[in-house]
Amino acid sequence: MGRGKRGRPRAAALRRKRATAAVERLSEILKSPWSHSEASVTQASKQMWSIGQRHRIGLHSDHRIWICRGCKGPIRPGITARIRIRNGRRITTCQTCGRISRRGPDFPKR
Ligand SMILES: [Zn+2]
Repeated sequence: MGRGKRGRPRAAALRRKRATAAVERLSEILKSPWSHSEASVTQASKQMWSIGQRHRIGLHSDHRIWICRGCKGPIRPGITARIRIRNGRRITTCQTCGRISRRGPDFPKR
């Protein structure tokens, strides 16, 4: 929580902007996990999640599909997660915590 001083929208906007930039940087790691160590990829996804929570900016839907909602770990098809498409639905099973998430039929296609 803050220190009781409120009403500085510019400062808040700046903080949020920095948070967004940080998330952007972390998402680069998630997009090319093969060029980073296992530990830093896991760290990146957990940090992205907590930044999104802390600044209430949430997670961009492009990023959200790469982070497990159960353990906040990275979803890496074939490595930490199994992804199957059935009837236009995407079924993701996290191999770390076993959480299954289903999306669709309107899951992001990009
Ligand atoms: Zn998980």
